[in-house]
Formats: sequence, C-alpha cells, structure tokens
Amino acid sequence: MKLIVQKFGGTSVADAERIHRAARRAIQAKQNGYQVVMAVSAMGKTTDKLISLAQEITDDPPKRELDMLLTTGEQVSISLMAMAIHSAGHEAISLTAGQVGLITDNVHTKARIKEINADRIKNELSQGRIVIVAGFQGINETGEIFTLGRGASDTTAVALAAVLNAECCEIYTDVDGIYTTDPRIEPKARKVDRISYDEMLELASLGAGVMHSRAIEFGKKYNVDIHVRSSFTDTTGTFITHEVEQMEEIVVSGVTVKKDLAQFVLQGLPNRPGVAAGIFAHVAGHNVAVDDIIQTFDDKGKASISFTVEHSDLAECKLVIEEICQEHKLEEIICHDPVAKVSAVGVGMRSHTGVAQKMFNALAEAKVNINAITTSEIKISCIIDPDQSEVALQTIHAAFELDKEPAA
Ligand code: ADP
Ligand code: ASP
Ligand code: MG
Repeated sequence: MKLIVQKFGGTSVADAERIHRAARRAIQAKQNGYQVVMAVSAMGKTTDKLISLAQEITDDPPKRELDMLLTTGEQVSISLMAMAIHSAGHEAISLTAGQVGLITDNVHTKARIKEINADRIKNELSQGRIVIVAGFQGINETGEIFTLGRGASDTTAVALAAVLNAECCEIYTDVDGIYTTDPRIEPKARKVDRISYDEMLELASLGAGVMHSRAIEFGKKYNVDIHVRSSFTDTTGTFITHEVEQMEEIVVSGVTVKKDLAQFVLQGLPNRPGVAAGIFAHVAGHNVAVDDIIQTFDDKGKASISFTVEHSDLAECKLVIEEICQEHKLEEIICHDPVAKVSAVGVGMRSHTGVAQKMFNALAEAKVNINAITTSEIKISCIIDPDQSEVALQTIHAAFELDKEPAA
C-alpha cells in the first residue's frame, strides 16, 4: 500500500482550528488510499516560550533539562492531533520518539538520528490508524530524551519517509513553497517549482529557515521526494529532488542571509603540520559547529585562522578558545560579534563565469563592505556588518534578477 508522510510546522498547528484543518488533510490522504504518518511540531511559538521560561529560572539551563522541557511541546500537539482525527470519526494514535524507537546520539539540544525502528509505526498503520509522531525529539539507547536542533521536525519527517519508503514527504508550512529568498525580507522573492537537494542543502545551511538542513541530507541520501507547500491552500508548492540538466542553466537560484554569527580570528599561530588539526580537535571536543574556516600564512612562519560560529554556540566556543590560548600561548584573540553572512547559491555556478564579480559589484554599489569571502562549487558567501544584511540580500537578489522567471 502506498504511504505518505505529512509534516505540519508550528504555525500550521497553532490553534484548534488549524489542528482540525491539518487533521482533515491527513484524513483526505487516507481516503485517497494512502497509509498516513504525520510528523508534528509544537503549537505556534511554544518552543520559544518554553525556552524563555527556562531563562526565567536560570541563564544557563542544563542542556539535558532543556531537552526534557522542550520535548513537551510536541507531546501536546500530537495528542491534540490524534483527538482531532478521532473527533472526525477516524482512527489515529500519537507516539513520542521513545514509543517509536527513534534513536539518536548523545548530544543534547542537537542530537543526530542514528536509527528508527519502523515496527511500531507499521503495526499501527496495518490496523488502519493514522500515526502521529512527535517531531524534533529522539531518545538514546538508555532512554534519555534528546532534541534534534531548532526546526528539526522537518528532519523527523524526512527520516520517517526514508525508513518507511514513503512515496512523498509533504512539508506543510506557512509559505507556499521555497522562494528565491525569504519573502519576509524581500517581497519580490519568487516561488520556485523545483530545486535540487544540493542547492536546498546550501540554502538551508546558510540561513533559509524554511527547511532544516539535516532533512535535506536525509532526502538526498535516501531519495525522498520532498514537497514543501502551504497548509492554508491547495496550491502545488516546491519539489526538492535530484538535480536535472535544466537546473544548471540557472546561475543563482537563491540568496540567503544568516545573522547572529560571531567570527573568531586566531593570530600568531605556528605555521607547521598539526596546528589546525589540534585546534579543531578542541572545537570538536565541545561539539561546536564552526563554519567559514579561513587560514592564511605570512613569511615569518606564522599563520592565522578564522572561523564563524552561531550565537547559540558562543558560550561553548569561548571555552574552546580558552583551551587554544593556553596551548599556543596566544595573547590576543579577535572576536567580531555580531557579524552576518550573505550568500548566493546555484548549481549553475559550476558552469558559468563572472558570478563572483557580479555579486561583489552589486555589494560595492550598495556600499556594503565585505569582511571575508568563502566559496564552494555552488555558493559564494560574504561576511558583512549585520546592519547591512537586508540591503545586501535585496541587492544581490536584484543583481541576479531573481524576481523574474528564468528564460525557458
Ligand atoms: P514551520 O513552522 O512550518 O516549520 P518555519 O518558520 O520553520 O515554518 O519556515 C517557514 C518560514 O521560512 C517562512 O515563513 C519564511 O519566512 C521563511 N523562509 C526563509 N527563507 C525562505 C525561502 N527561501 N523560501 C521560503 N520561505 C523562507
Ligand atoms: N518545535 C521545534 C522548534 O520550534 C521544532 C520544529 O518546529 O521544527 O524548533
Ligand atoms: Mg521549520
């Protein structure tokens, strides 16, 4: 029997009426002949509110307890969803990650899924029930509770779609698809019909909050067709799929901005084998995610290394920096805080020239200073002043004419 996974984000289950609406979608899919698994986020801004509550108690809540607290949000929404489906005369059951057997590693607040036991879900489906799984949470082998990082109900959904071999994973949200940039920042942003996993992975990692980046990694690895669409309308949204040839013709398919970053610069390091390895061993030891690593060297045997971290990792990163300072007897560490990163992404960059020049020109004309530049095969990123991030994003969006339909 064909199977579909439907994920509903916070705004799509923000109140009773929206929960009923989401329930009706799942029932409709069942009536269309699908087995239906739902992955559901906490209602509205519940997760933010729970974090604020923790901060009212202490500035530095233990991460284990934060995970205990935050996972309650999803337990509320899944049980209400099951009640909504029951009230419409259909069978449904809500399950936490522990009840499913969604196993993660041991990193509180940003655990990664290691495996999912599909037996319980399959058993419930075979009894004609719609199965509603709590997004964003997992357990480890000993039953401890973990969360998978902000926005990670998407990842729960796509991982479920992968293990259950779903025909499609539908991501229901408050926009009707993936846009060329965040429509809240650039009203001229245009919805795209289709985008490759690689592009979406870059966009998500570079700040497009519409999808959690781990979800795209699962989608790519396990060939899950992902359909991002509005929970308020029936219009077709955006399909995230493997790359097809025509995608190469579009040079830039999206622009993102990521704020709340800090950049560390370590100067006066010895320029010899093993120094970078040692530094990033400290970083990994604290589970800090760093990005935009740049190393340069001078002719006096010294090197400097810079990298960016998200504000959520800043406190942990300061511990890392202390360890590095002690080891290398560094006196001065520069920390630029806050900084922002604006990026252009597109698989067409592989085969087109002049992309960087066009982006840098646009920023120069808008008088945006570039502090650092990093690139990959399909993206160019610039570290800039956060106060200029919106103008930078709009300028790049206009320079690549992203508001216009690409030529056929
Ligand atoms: P949900 O609660 O459904 O998971 P999110 O708030 O996580 O919803 O994601 C949807 C939001 O992502 C949109 O309201 C939009 O403002 C933002 N967004 C950022 N970048 C993009 C983009 N490129 N395309 C569409 N939406 C984007
Ligand atoms: N409720 C979680 C969050 O707000 C997970 C999610 O919505 O995807 O981050
Ligand atoms: Mg989200």
